[in-house]
Amino acid sequence: MDTTLLLSPTEPDGTLPRAALEALSAAKAVGGTVIVGLFGGKTGPAAAQLAGTGVAKVLAAEAEPLAQPRYGTDAAACAALARASGATVIVAPALSRMARVAAGVAQRLGGRIDTHVTQVSTEGGALSATRWYYKQRIEAKLQRAERPWVLLVDPGAYPAAAAAGGAAPAVEPVKVELGPELQRSQVTGVHAPTSGEQTIRPDAKLLFVAGAGWTKKQADGKPNPEKAGELILGFLRAAGASLGTSKSLTDQAGEGQKVLEFMTHLNQVGQTGSTPRHPRGLSTCCHGEEPHVVGWRFIRERRAINLDANCGWARGKADVVYVADAFAVMEKVNALLAAKKG
Ligand SMILES: Cc1cc2nc3c(=O)[nH]c(=O)nc-3n(C[C@H](O)[C@H](O)[C@H](O)COP(=O)(O)OP(=O)(O)OC[C@H]3O[C@@H](n4cnc5c(N)ncnc54)[C@H](O)[C@@H]3O)c2cc1C
Repeated sequence: MDTTLLLSPTEPDGTLPRAALEALSAAKAVGGTVIVGLFGGKTGPAAAQLAGTGVAKVLAAEAEPLAQPRYGTDAAACAALARASGATVIVAPALSRMARVAAGVAQRLGGRIDTHVTQVSTEGGALSATRWYYKQRIEAKLQRAERPWVLLVDPGAYPAAAAAGGAAPAVEPVKVELGPELQRSQVTGVHAPTSGEQTIRPDAKLLFVAGAGWTKKQADGKPNPEKAGELILGFLRAAGASLGTSKSLTDQAGEGQKVLEFMTHLNQVGQTGSTPRHPRGLSTCCHGEEPHVVGWRFIRERRAINLDANCGWARGKADVVYVADAFAVMEKVNALLAAKKG
């Protein structure tokens, strides 16, 4: 039976990222003992969060240099935690910080790594990992004889492990050599492309997609991007929805055109964009072409509003298509939401 290590950095306040609790559910699906390895500037709150999750113990690499996400120190901490755990399977959340070091850590341990894992299972006693290839178009289930096997689990693939309360697991500090040669890079700040308010909400129940139609000439012969922005942001705020977009609209924003300034390439859904995992999706002013709709793979209930009764959504890609003017529909929806709130 494999011993599994869940490996995760902690947040600046010392808590666990949500994706780590999801990866813990994957680690538990391996079966056998689960040990958690934490690294960061502060790890106490994360260890306390693990009370009642069935974790055998916590190994903690806590040191001031680990407060910064940096390859040298992060990789050293991960390798030290993995060695201290003696684990044969290492599960980690596919956070950018983990993704950066995980392959190097697998190499240092003489193990193997698989990324984009969405499921682990043990059929007939053999551990299998399910993962995606080629922009999530091909799904493969694989087994490996080599150990340790590092599995980077995609966020959103598993529910977060629930804590039943009770005593926190025992915490063993792990000392890591973090010499100055590992600390030559310094994090001096964060540049995020989103200029305005936060529009990407992975936990939202609804994905609201705004397509290029919002910026096209409307029935009055003129484009009305200001009105479009008002309606879209009004709906996002009222419904707590996450904002997705099509490539056409993202590209316009990227060209610096005065369109919808809150759009960035991070909002783009599709073949060359993201594949979000919300339970429901509403597409507006978007044609529903295949390179876009492929990003809706995990959206279970789909609706679309389009003036064109012959748009891509109407060809079996949406459960419901409203052939209507999205400006008029969203104005009415926002008014209904405001009335409900008031
Ligand atoms: C290699 C490759 C990769 C690609 N990757 C992606 C990708 O990752 N994501 C992606 O999105 N696209 C991608 N594309 C582009 C994709 O093929 C489409 O060009 C793009 O999705 C079209 O965007 P759209 O539907 O918003 O715009 P349009 O095609 O311009 O459609 C606008 C729609 O708005 C409707 N409309 C206009 N006004 C209103 C109104 N008032 N009310 C209701 N409806 C209205 C129109 O009827 C029309 O259907 C890719 C293309 C290629 C070749």
